[in-house]
Amino acid sequence: MRFPLALSLKIAGHILKHKLRKTPKFALVLQLEPLHTCNLTCTGCGRIREYSTSLKDMVPLERCLAAAAECDAPMVSICGGEPLIYPKIEELVQGLLAQGRIVYICTNGVFMRKKMREYFAAVFDPSVPSHQATLQRLLTENLITEKEADAIRHADAAAKSRVVIRPTQWLYWNVHIDGLEYTHDLIVEREGVFRECVAAVRMAKILGYQVATNTTVYRETDVQEIEDMFRYFSALGVDGHTISPGYDYDAAKKDMVKRLGKDPKDFFLTREMTRQKFAKILDWGRQFTIFGTPVYQEFLAGKRELTCTAWAIPTYNIRGWKAPCYLMTDAHYPTYAEMLEKVDWDKYGVVNGVARDPRCENCMVHCGYDPSGALGTNYQRGDHWKNFKYNFGPRPKPHPWSPELERRAFNGVSVGRGHLAQARAAVAAASVVAGAPAGVPSHNGELHPHVGTFCGTGEGARLPARQPQTGHGE
Ligand code: SF4
Ligand code: SF4
Repeated sequence: MRFPLALSLKIAGHILKHKLRKTPKFALVLQLEPLHTCNLTCTGCGRIREYSTSLKDMVPLERCLAAAAECDAPMVSICGGEPLIYPKIEELVQGLLAQGRIVYICTNGVFMRKKMREYFAAVFDPSVPSHQATLQRLLTENLITEKEADAIRHADAAAKSRVVIRPTQWLYWNVHIDGLEYTHDLIVEREGVFRECVAAVRMAKILGYQVATNTTVYRETDVQEIEDMFRYFSALGVDGHTISPGYDYDAAKKDMVKRLGKDPKDFFLTREMTRQKFAKILDWGRQFTIFGTPVYQEFLAGKRELTCTAWAIPTYNIRGWKAPCYLMTDAHYPTYAEMLEKVDWDKYGVVNGVARDPRCENCMVHCGYDPSGALGTNYQRGDHWKNFKYNFGPRPKPHPWSPELERRAFNGVSVGRGHLAQARAAVAAASVVAGAPAGVPSHNGELHPHVGTFCGTGEGARLPARQPQTGHGE
């Protein structure tokens, strides 16, 4: 089965319950941002810039849990910022799981191995042969050092009793990967991050965690590279891939102008461009475990229209419930109920090709439109069956690993030593020499301008395709 049965049933049950009650608007996925602090400064990341004045603030644990309880979304995507920096991340995950939610931790991957070592130290029992074998495998594959192995073997009472993030079918690590080594490190502006992500993914699979990758496609994204990335991570055994078009939301746009001195118009992923980039998404969905409904995939591929249902993937952060959506901020509200009531939802989205708000014109992102596919808005005959078949159909087989695939994945570190400065210089040189548009030069000499990245931006949890249900519109 493509997705775990329990997960699919949980989402389907939630939708069915609200359809039977005729609830006009309800949450499917909560984007929970307990903090906006991050250990990286990715090119164009809107989050760390939009909330730059409150980077040190954190949502208290109790408020995070209360927000999840209030909106009652079956899935919670913990994003940020980097959620593994949140001091109570373990308690937050534990609390959400105790509420019966499916939890995605959207992370840049840098602290994952530390968190997993803490888990293994807490459960490690030297008398259990499988624990010893796992420890040995982690050592052999260079995923932990001898010193770290010793710390696991000799964990003290405090380490044994700490709250840790344990593998469960209700939890996914959702790792931000925006390309293969060269591109990813360029986007996150730090050398070695891709390598660390790969190590973290491998370690997570050995320890029994579910792992997804989380990728944003930009105007400059090479579609062939994305396919190679799917192949590589599929070969590593990841459980699914989330993918969404990058979009020039306000904060990212401002950063691009102010910090990088670029004209955002040169980098917008328009609707037309999104459709070109995602032309093969239905094909990808057959080859790889792509999260998201096939209806949303058809929308991305330009085969149909959908209406924005941003209220179904609400965002909660230090300032409250962010409206109207994850990308745009017109106001924050103290409760989800108040946000639902006070926002004039008819002001937003694109209907029949006409943008109700100019800022929505080019948006096709999952947090606005993936729920539309799951909720049956713009229903077309056969959609339920299509979604059902996708969910319950066989899971695509992992792509076979090969040295060639490994070689293509590790295609060279981008610049290193704080590459942005060098990249800027190269951009200037390229622009002068060739009269070329500003951008970051890639390893193959092409220019790679960037729009805001979506790692901590919570383009995280995706909906499995929904079950057949009693009705289809809202
Ligand atoms: S279309 Fe929806 S999700 Fe996209 S920017 Fe507009 S309100 Fe937000
Ligand atoms: S995109 Fe994610 S990892 Fe990068 S700076 Fe933003 S929150 Fe941090």
